[in-house]
Amino acid sequence: MQTALADFIRDTPEGREADAILRKCVHCGFCTATCPTYLLLGDENDGPRGRIYLMKQALEGQEITDKTRLHLDRCLTCRACETTCPSGVQYGRLLDIGRKLVEERTARPAWEGIKRRALAEIVPRRSLFALLLKLGRLARPFLPARLAEGIPVSATRAGTWPAPRHARKMLALAGCVQPALAPDINAAAARVFDRIGISLIEAKGAGCCGALRFHIGYQEEGLADMRALIDRWWPMIERGEVEAIVMTASGCGAVVKEYAHLLRHDPAYAGKAEKISAMTRDVCEAIDAEFGRIEPILAKKERVRLAFHPPCTLQHGQDIKGVTERVLARAGFELTPVPDSHLCCGSAGTYSILQPELAERLKKNKLVALASGEPELIATANIGCQAHLAAGAGLPVRHWITAFEERLN
Ligand code: SF4
Ligand code: SF4
Repeated sequence: MQTALADFIRDTPEGREADAILRKCVHCGFCTATCPTYLLLGDENDGPRGRIYLMKQALEGQEITDKTRLHLDRCLTCRACETTCPSGVQYGRLLDIGRKLVEERTARPAWEGIKRRALAEIVPRRSLFALLLKLGRLARPFLPARLAEGIPVSATRAGTWPAPRHARKMLALAGCVQPALAPDINAAAARVFDRIGISLIEAKGAGCCGALRFHIGYQEEGLADMRALIDRWWPMIERGEVEAIVMTASGCGAVVKEYAHLLRHDPAYAGKAEKISAMTRDVCEAIDAEFGRIEPILAKKERVRLAFHPPCTLQHGQDIKGVTERVLARAGFELTPVPDSHLCCGSAGTYSILQPELAERLKKNKLVALASGEPELIATANIGCQAHLAAGAGLPVRHWITAFEERLN
């Protein structure tokens, strides 16, 4: 695609990156076939090719309107278009640049701004989120059904976290919302790793990975969250105490793997970020690599029919396909077929709060697809998808590692 970027951005790092991405796009439209919002709305501007064109116009200095912002807001950032594109267009990176520009050059209606600011203030603060969740649970009986459905009744108990007794150690990220919504996930992962001679540890004071603020229009604050997390992790990494960073939330994993790129222009953090991204593994990658040690401790149990929902941040963001499914099958689960498993469930970080109608339609479609093979449970790999799907699933929805733990003797 020919480009002529405007003076204000042409010679900046963002301008050069956007230009290189835009030039790769040949406008073939293959990506529209796998775009969930295009499939729902049928509007070219609600598909990747249309959005790329809108961003190109903005970068070329044309007026940025509320309509541009609306179509970018409706994008789930699922990156299904990216894994479909035969030309290697890095849509997600272009979107980061496009969204920043749109945020700077348009004014959101006051209520929208307040909602976004509230999310940016509450969600990354673990204790504040936990407190509000408790209050929400108390208020649940008095809330309208649709609101109440979104508040999980209770969290599964975490159980014990084994003391760090092994020479081999890996870091885990508690994250911002996961400890309050599902404290059992990291604890189950820690118990599984403990059984195979690896101690999983969390760094004291480690907070949000930065994805939330970065993706809802507060990129500088998101980068500050990333630097703060690096500061918490770095002493242990520098001393060589941990061999890897294990992510149980694929949404956080996708972003931490991008730290090297996002902080590449920061001389104080670029090197650390590069090392951290290289050390980061989704929990399925870490378990898959150690499966030889898991095999002897697998119990002989009846097969359980399970439908796996691969989050977009796993299959598109991290380009990990089939690994969790392989691990689950080897542990004795019978994976039921799930049509259109490449499509987003509508959770997409804060999307389900900011675009509730589209998110609800995507969820309904996803739940029908997941239930079609008559599973006994649904498993996924990201807390956002888990909480979103659980509201209305009619079946247990869990992180796969918690179900996997039950297969050990
Ligand atoms: S992003 Fe890729 S698939 Fe989509 S129109 Fe451009 S070249 Fe084609
Ligand atoms: S990221 Fe997802 S929703 Fe956004 S354009 Fe690509 S496929 Fe469509």
